[in-house]
Amino acid sequence: MRLLVISDIHGNLTALNRVLDSSGGYDLAICAGDIVGYGPNPGECVDAIKGLHAACVTGNHDAEVAGGESFGANPAASQAIRIHKRLLSTQQTAWLRGLPRRLELDLAGVKVAVFHGSPVQPLREYVFPHDARMLADHFLELTGTDVIILGHTHMPCEVRTEKGLILNPGSVGQPRDGDPRASYAVMETSGDDVEVTIGRAEYDIDLVASRMRERGLPEVLANRLYHGR
Ligand code: ZN
Repeated sequence: MRLLVISDIHGNLTALNRVLDSSGGYDLAICAGDIVGYGPNPGECVDAIKGLHAACVTGNHDAEVAGGESFGANPAASQAIRIHKRLLSTQQTAWLRGLPRRLELDLAGVKVAVFHGSPVQPLREYVFPHDARMLADHFLELTGTDVIILGHTHMPCEVRTEKGLILNPGSVGQPRDGDPRASYAVMETSGDDVEVTIGRAEYDIDLVASRMRERGLPEVLANRLYHGR
């Protein structure tokens, strides 16, 4: 099977479309959450992920925009969350609210668990690349799966141990690893074998930044897209 793995789209439809154009064909899309928050097109991104019939978990921004608990976002992120609540239709909000916090998939015999943050705290814990190396075996034992897909850090990461694989595809809409290009992963399974390729796609940041200004989103959020931080 060929899987497109994406996360942290954050309302950046332009970046999402470039990823979909660049990634080639796939059997299933997997999304590790944060479809909304930060960017100019949250509703369009919800519709796009719905349209892909992606296997998708909720992120902290999705949960907060859909009206659940607060995750203590910083002032700029909180302002974007308030704006996104207004931009979404009732149906888009209801769809977001219905997303699960964890997913388990059986991909032709390869067991995969999907969380936004971590298996322990799906909406709160950040598993940065260094943490992923330390915690991989612990997490794989907890889930009992061969693969764990995470998002939330906006940093791509692939960690392999004898027990399995931890994969974070990085962020489509707001990368934070110093590379401003949209980040995604393609995972190919054949038998027990799992191959991963991290891909990066350039997109028109000027266009996205100008749309963010039009919608009154904080300048700091537009500006960081240029730096990938
Ligand atoms: Zn995020």
